[in-house]
Amino acid sequence: MPLPFASAGSLRPATLVFVAALFLVLSGPLSAWSRKQTLPQPVPARDPAVQGVVDGVQKARLEKTVRALAAFPTRHTLSGAAGVDAAADYLVREFEAISQASGGRLRVERDTWTQPAGNRMPAPHVLTNVLATLPGTETPERVIVVSGHYDSRVTDVMDAASLAPGANDDASGVAVVMELARLMAGHRYACTVVFAAVTGEEQGLYGSSHLAEAMTAAKRNIVAMITNDIVGNSQGEGRAREGRQVRLFSAGYAPSETPAQALRRQAAGTDADTPARTLARAAADSARRYVRGFTVVLVYRNDRYGRGGDHTPFLRRGYAAVRLTEPNEDWRHQHQDVRTQNGVRYGDLPEFVDYAYLARVAQVNAATVAELASAPASPIEPTLKPDLSPQTTLSWTVPDGAAACEVLWRRTTDADWKGTRLLPPAQTTVILPLSKDDYLFAVRAVGARGARGLPAIPTAGRVSTR
Ligand SMILES: [Zn+2]
Repeated sequence: MPLPFASAGSLRPATLVFVAALFLVLSGPLSAWSRKQTLPQPVPARDPAVQGVVDGVQKARLEKTVRALAAFPTRHTLSGAAGVDAAADYLVREFEAISQASGGRLRVERDTWTQPAGNRMPAPHVLTNVLATLPGTETPERVIVVSGHYDSRVTDVMDAASLAPGANDDASGVAVVMELARLMAGHRYACTVVFAAVTGEEQGLYGSSHLAEAMTAAKRNIVAMITNDIVGNSQGEGRAREGRQVRLFSAGYAPSETPAQALRRQAAGTDADTPARTLARAAADSARRYVRGFTVVLVYRNDRYGRGGDHTPFLRRGYAAVRLTEPNEDWRHQHQDVRTQNGVRYGDLPEFVDYAYLARVAQVNAATVAELASAPASPIEPTLKPDLSPQTTLSWTVPDGAAACEVLWRRTTDADWKGTRLLPPAQTTVILPLSKDDYLFAVRAVGARGARGLPAIPTAGRVSTR
């Protein structure tokens, strides 16, 4: 019995056309399929584990922490046993409970030192930061610090006795830190995360200065530092309400920049790409991808006009450090004696905190910290070929743990990245049809689940730093 296709002569022309058409229809997808076997697996736009942390934020837990801290009669740095020290005990207990619930992976410590007399510090005083560290599993030497300050104040910054609830400034920031610890402690991250409740902010950034100094002395590689300070109120003075934004302050200068780094920056024209700004743009990007209906507004200034925050001691020591603060502040409820005057209620009381808003800020933190902690390190030694051509050639070394790298670009006057292109895993160079004179570029590594790392800014290949 002859096989159907043994002889073409035995088949009618219509059958031949049908078979040929069938072959063409099938061969397209099949060859595409076989080509796919040599291309990278697609890297997701979002890491589902990061999204899980973001979606896990609970308003009720944030409110509980704020109200518990605000219930101490005062948390003034110099208030002693019944005040700030009792608040530190409370924080230690809470972090330890979180650690126990996560199998003891969170290392809780009370960092205590004697602060010498100084500005707003009439005599030497024993101060305590409360720290909870979640060790990284793949690159534990890379550290992310997220902080809030647990001390409070009233109108007179030296008044250590009056009622000082400090609900928004800054129990709100500490509540965010606590919530992040709770959500992240049960998971494994590539990087180490330090959840810090620091003291002495109102007296002169004493707690964060001590922490930054100690971590610098220990040669810790801090890749990102984010402080949350006054992040719980959506309604500003004058009744302006803004519940869908948070401000992120980042410095346009790097106080620790060496002459060699300055030379590279000047040659490459990357003045707008300080480590703090790169971190700020990364945080805005994480928020865009994981926190729906809420925006990180970049403010290109280290802090509010003439004001200070706990990120600054880290910035001064050379780390990428930024500050989150609500968009519309209400100064009737900050740094004020609790009182009613001409019918107006003054004081930083828990009823003036918008807990739904605070939960959104906690989600921004969760997106940024969980994503950066999950992601590989930045691409190594990215360089930009300084040739005279209308294109831009970038090259780099792929860091360990990266499933792919992604290039980013923007015009020199754009505040934030405008374009991205995900590249195959092994690719270490790319030619972009964009002028290196008119655009700025960066490269970031992407983990297998989709977490994006901190972008690295390429240096101009021609410049010698010796
Ligand atoms: Zn504050």
